[in-house]
Formats: sequence, structure tokens, C-alpha cells
Amino acid sequence: MNILQNAIDGRKVASSSRRRAAVYNPATGEQIAEVPLSTAAEVDAAVAAAKKAAASWGAMPPLKRIQPMFRFRELLQRHADEIARKISEEHGKTHADAKGELSRGIDVVDFACGIPHLLKGEFSRNVGPEIDSWSDRQPLGVVAGITPFNFPAMVPMWMYPVAIACGNAFVLKPSERDPSTSMLVWDLFQEAGFPAGVLNVVHGDREAVDAILDHPDIKAVSFVGSTPVAEHVYTRGSASGKRVQALGGAKNHMIVMPDADIDQAADALMGAGFGSAGERCMAISVAVPVGEKTGDMLVEALAPRIRTLKVGPATDPQSEMGPVITAEAKQRIEGLIGRGVSEGAELVVDGRGLKLQGYENGYFLGGTLFDRVRKDMTIYKTEIFGPVLCVVRAERFDDAADLINGHEYGNGTAIFTRDGDAARAFADQIEVGMVGINVPIPVPVAYHSFGGWKRSLFGDHSIYGPEGVRFYTRLKTVTARWPNGIRAGAQFHFPSLK
Ligand code: NAD
Repeated sequence: MNILQNAIDGRKVASSSRRRAAVYNPATGEQIAEVPLSTAAEVDAAVAAAKKAAASWGAMPPLKRIQPMFRFRELLQRHADEIARKISEEHGKTHADAKGELSRGIDVVDFACGIPHLLKGEFSRNVGPEIDSWSDRQPLGVVAGITPFNFPAMVPMWMYPVAIACGNAFVLKPSERDPSTSMLVWDLFQEAGFPAGVLNVVHGDREAVDAILDHPDIKAVSFVGSTPVAEHVYTRGSASGKRVQALGGAKNHMIVMPDADIDQAADALMGAGFGSAGERCMAISVAVPVGEKTGDMLVEALAPRIRTLKVGPATDPQSEMGPVITAEAKQRIEGLIGRGVSEGAELVVDGRGLKLQGYENGYFLGGTLFDRVRKDMTIYKTEIFGPVLCVVRAERFDDAADLINGHEYGNGTAIFTRDGDAARAFADQIEVGMVGINVPIPVPVAYHSFGGWKRSLFGDHSIYGPEGVRFYTRLKTVTARWPNGIRAGAQFHFPSLK
């Protein structure tokens, strides 16, 4: 069995923690690895290594810093299949889906390779007599990232390539449910030639997270995960003087207008609702057809598609949807489906009780479809994070928009329509950070930035892209006078040109 180690100061180190967690293959239910739940002292060691590395790394010319980044990018591409297989083994998502997430992570590495241009700063000549002024962005020193299970390669890559390219050293605390991908990627990172201590990996749970949040030498923390933990991370990290960006949960709605192509909308909902077993923060979990007829047509188009969804292990190339992450997650999702029924939603397709021959101990669920869900129901209010799609019918576009604006989360949303007026009104009025128009999963590309609104993001900065550069650097503005021969005597008024 694979026993995971931490990666500190360029070396793999066995953890001395007595607390351990099991890692399972969700397709079979077998334990395949054991991960240490590291102590505060181990976080301390990682931070000390990062602090030592940050001093010379941050002083290095950006053009030199990106040389290993180019090699890292090449190694990731060369090892893409192997990394994707590791993702699938511990997470359960299909091989194509795992490769897709890795590819979106590599996009951020590409972006980070352009850092010399992004750090150029601004210069103004003659802001006063013989006075010039420039602003540039300098690294923070040691920064940390805490990541969720659902994208074990991509979400860490939303963080450390940008942070490190900016001149910081990084401490990563990956999810304890699928931690092996981070180690595989760390090996490639070292092989690419980065100095020891620039990227450190410490496994663990709340103890390690709280040690990160309280550590005086960590200057900024990026978090991606569920909203209650995001709020905790934001509150505790900010209280100890850190810059924090904490991305939380979601309940993403997709409006289907009466003029939409129903087959196109249904296909989009299949991928967005059931891809990765609904375990995506940008998954669509609520479809909002406008008008009764649209609702009827949409449910009629969705039901057979969901019934024939190919559920299976990632090792079967025919599989369209894998298992959910843990036995507890499966039980929680089944419990929520039961709650939907008891609260009066119409269960059109029931994904509970699915058994796959040869995978009886796997955490599989079929796709579930609820119709006539109301906004007071638990299945509407809660982030289910599983393969469950709720249909909430709206009478008019305004009702659909109000529904979305009234939800506590504001991560992603979409509208399917041929009506330009409705699409424009939607983009203008909707209180959500990432909006798709006939695009069901509008995850911004690596040179834009990713972030929700409301309780989907705590903090002022979105992640990666230009916002990532701002988050991992601080602004310095220098005002300089050359030549320096002016003798104007002491001046007690505030310097001004007028
Ligand atoms: P999670 O919140 O349980 O865990 C995330 C991280 O926090 C893990 O590293 C975990 O070890 C740590 N953690 C868990 N409980 C903690 C506690 N009590 N104190 C301190 N640290 C703790 O999330 P998850 O189940 O791994 O991931 C799924 C969630 O992540 C969903 O809510 C999903 O919407 C969200 N997510 C959001 C985004 C986004 O961009 N907004 C992206 C991916 C996932």
C-alpha cells in the first residue's frame, strides 16, 4: 500500500504524526493508500524551508524563474496519462475528465510562464521637477494553498504556478481524500529544476490547516473547498493578519428560455450536471425552464438521457460517469434524495440503489432527476455535490433571475436562449461571478480569473490570471529625484505641483 510522505525542502520526508487517514479507490471501495495527518511542527518545518527558499527565489530575475516553469510544463504534458490515471484511481472521474482537468491546470502553468511581462509595472517620468515614479509588484514571501478533493491536479495549479512565478515559495496542503496526485506532480516539479523549498507539500486535515492559518511567516493563503470551511479559513487567516482568498461552495442554475433548442440544452445539462458525478463547483445542479411547456419538454428530453447514462469505473473507456468520492458522500447524497421525496419534489429518475457487477463495493450512484422542486426545499438550498439535477420551474425570465439572485451562492450560472435581449439582461443583472451564455460551464480561461460572488468567495481577489498575480504580490511605488542637487530648503507644506 502506498504510504504518503510530505515533501519539504526538496525531499520526501516521512511524517511523525500518529494520526493517519485511509485513501480509497472509490470504484472498488478498497483502501489503496494511507496519508499522514501532519502536525503543526511539520507545517513549521515546511514554512521554514519555504522561507529560506523565498529569499533567493524572489530576488532572481523573472526571466530566470520561468526557465524551470517551461520544463515543468513539458514534463506535465509528457506524463499526462500517468497523472490522469492517478487522479482517476483516487477520485473516480473518467480518464478523459481527468485529462481535461490536468489540461486546464497546465493552462495556468502556461500563463505563469509569461510572468516577466505581467510583473513589468508602471513608470511615470517627470511626476515633478526631475522626479520619476514607478510602481511594481513584489512577492510576499511564503504563501500557502489548501485544496479540495474534486480537482486534485487543477485546483493546486490554480495557485502555486502563479505564486511561484511571482517569486514566492509555496506550502501546499492537498485534500486528504486523494493526495497522491500532488506527490506525482511534485516529483515532476523537482525534476524541472526548481530550487529545494520553493514548493513544499504537507498532508493533513484541520490541524495542519489551522497551523497554516496561524503561522506568522505565511503571508497569504488561498483556499478552495466547501463554504463552511472557506469561512473558517477566511476569518481565522485574516485575524492573524494574512491576505486570504477562500473559494467556497456553489449551487449553479441554468435558465432555459422558451426559444432555446431543447436538445442542445438537455445535452449541455447532461455534461454540466453529471460530468464528474456532479462533483464540480461549476456543475449545474438546478435547471430553470421558463414556462410550463419549456419545463415539460426539458424534463421529457432529460429523463431518457439520464436513464441511459453509462455509469462505471474510470478503467472502462465507455464510462461517462464514475463513482462519488467516499462511502459517506454516497450515503449523504442518498439521504438528500430521500429528503427531496419527503418534502414533495417529483422524483423522475432515481439514481439510488445502483449496483455494478464486479464493483459492488464501489460508491456508485445513477443520475437523479427531480422536477417541480421549490426554493424552500432542502435539495434546492443545499449543495448536494453529487449526480442530482433539480428542475425548478419559473413562469417568466424575471422570476428565474430573481431565484438565482436570491440564492446564498453565486459561483456560476448559464442561460440557454436565442434571444439576445434576454442574454444581455441576464449578463447585466445576475448576481453571480461567472456567467455562461449558451455555455453551461463558464470556467474562465487561465488568462482571465476565476471567482464567484456572495458565499462562494470570501476575500477580494479571484484566483489565477491577473487577479492571481495581484493576490500573490504587493504593490510598491517608488518616487525618485535625479539629479539630486536641488537645494530648496525645508518645506513644511504638503508636496504639490499647483
Ligand atoms: P472541504 O471543505 O471538505 O475540504 C477542503 C480542504 O479543507 C481540504 O484540504 C480539507 O482537508 C480541509 N478541511 C476540511 N475540513 C476542515 C476543517 N474543519 N478545518 C480546516 N480545514 C478543513 O471540501 P471538499 O469536500 O474537499 O471539496 C468539495 C467542496 O469544494 C464543494 O463545496 C465545492 O463546491 C468546493 N469547491 C469550490 C470550488 C470553487 O472554485 N469555488 C472549486 C472546487 C471545489
